[in-house]
Formats: sequence, structure tokens, C-alpha cells
Amino acid sequence: MHTIRDLPIKGFIDTSFVDWPGKICAVLFFPLCNFRCPYCHNADLVVRPDQLATIEPESVFARLDDLRGWIDGVCVTGGEPTLQPKLRRLLEVVRAAGFQTKLDTNGSNPDVLRGLLDAGLLDYVAMDVKSCLDESSYCAITSAPESMLGRVRASIDLLREGRVEYEFRITVVPTYHGPEDIFRLARDLSGAARLRLQNFSPGERILDPALNTVRPYTQEALANLQLRVDELLACAGSRTSVPVSAVRQAPPVNPAARPGAS
Ligand code: SF4
Repeated sequence: MHTIRDLPIKGFIDTSFVDWPGKICAVLFFPLCNFRCPYCHNADLVVRPDQLATIEPESVFARLDDLRGWIDGVCVTGGEPTLQPKLRRLLEVVRAAGFQTKLDTNGSNPDVLRGLLDAGLLDYVAMDVKSCLDESSYCAITSAPESMLGRVRASIDLLREGRVEYEFRITVVPTYHGPEDIFRLARDLSGAARLRLQNFSPGERILDPALNTVRPYTQEALANLQLRVDELLACAGSRTSVPVSAVRQAPPVNPAARPGAS
């Protein structure tokens, strides 16, 4: 494989069975993010990337050469990989080497996403959504400016065009995401292929350690929430979906109950 200079790879898993549904993939981690989700498990990548060693791209590409025929593709994750200036070049090189490509993104850069889709450089996109699609909820969780929600909505609309396989994911934290908030997001995403609920997992390395006092949903509760979300998406999928970037915002569900909401 051609190598790429000055590519800040901060983590590399050569064989993952869990990062791409139905596929075996390598995973490349990139630093920096424009969100500050309190439950983020990649806090080092997001706020202390300089304290992490950078892996030589040559060694990563050499390992990928070895894995040809064994893994299906390469997942690019972060942090937020669309902030990397050499992302497109990386995907071109990975594709030219015969691998499929998956992008994990928070949807904050729809222009980058559109460019990659237009160039046919993506096979699968997993987009993290953070709350139902209203500004106060999104800002409270991500600390991003209010204008960010329009960009997130544009990315959602791009993926819902169905040009590549995709899924929406949300990490559910009971203090931020009550059942009605989750169901409202499912309605917001009407027509989407999938919204996968991921359980919040407390830990020493999360961005805001104060959240470690929060008890996650039980597995049973999460499974029941997922069932209802699947029903709502299936129900909505039978109707014509409206671009979320064109939908007027409704007020948030019980904003006073959200820690950090102003
Ligand atoms: S959870 Fe994702 S979007 Fe949020 S801060 Fe961490 S890397 Fe960024």
C-alpha cells in the first residue's frame, strides 16, 4: 500500500469483529473532536491527543497488507475523523488496496461527508446522534454552538438518501435520555434504516467523571427501548419521510430535567 505522511493515527486495532455489523475490519483512531459529550469514552483522543503516541502510518499500512484476504475492510473512527485533512486521501489508499471502508462520524461535517459519498469512497457510515433533534438538547450534551444542529440534520438527510449502508447510533444515558426523548428521536429519524441504542458505560476515563454516579439502563430496559424504537422506525418507514433539515423544531421534552441544560 502507498503510505501517507503526517497521518496522526493514535490507535490501531488490526482485527475487530464488533466495529462493523457482519464484517471483520481493522480500526484506525484519529484525534480531536468538535463535540464534548460528557460520557465520551475517548476522552484522551478528544482533549489530550498530544499525550498519546502517534503510530507510524508505514507500520499500519504494512499490517493492512498482511491482512488482505482476512479482513473485509477498514473502519475510520475517532474522535471525529472528518476533521482530518487527509481523510479523503486515506480512504482512497485503503480502497485502492482492495478494502471496504466504514466511517464513524458525529455528523458535524456534512460537506466532507457529501464529498466522500460523491466520490464513492464509503461503504458504510455509522453516525452518532446525541439527542432528539432540538438545539437545546444537542447543545447541552455536545457543548457545540446552536448552529451545529443544522449540520447534523444535513448529515442525517444525506445518509437517509440511502446511497450507502448506514446506521444511526445513540449512547443512552438515563439523565439525558429518558424513554420519551429516545422515542422522539426515533420519530425525528423517520425513514431511517436503523437507530441502534448503546448503553452508557461508566468508567474512569470518561470525559466527565461526575457521570460515574449515574446508573445505566439495565440490559432488559435497553432491549425494551430498542424494541420500541424499531417499531417506531418501521412504522415511520411506511410513510414518506421529510428531510429533517426542513423540519421546524419543536420544544425539547422536559428540558429542566437535563443536567447542564440552561
Ligand atoms: S462521544 Fe464522539 S462526538 Fe462525543 S466527544 Fe467523544 S468522540 Fe466526540
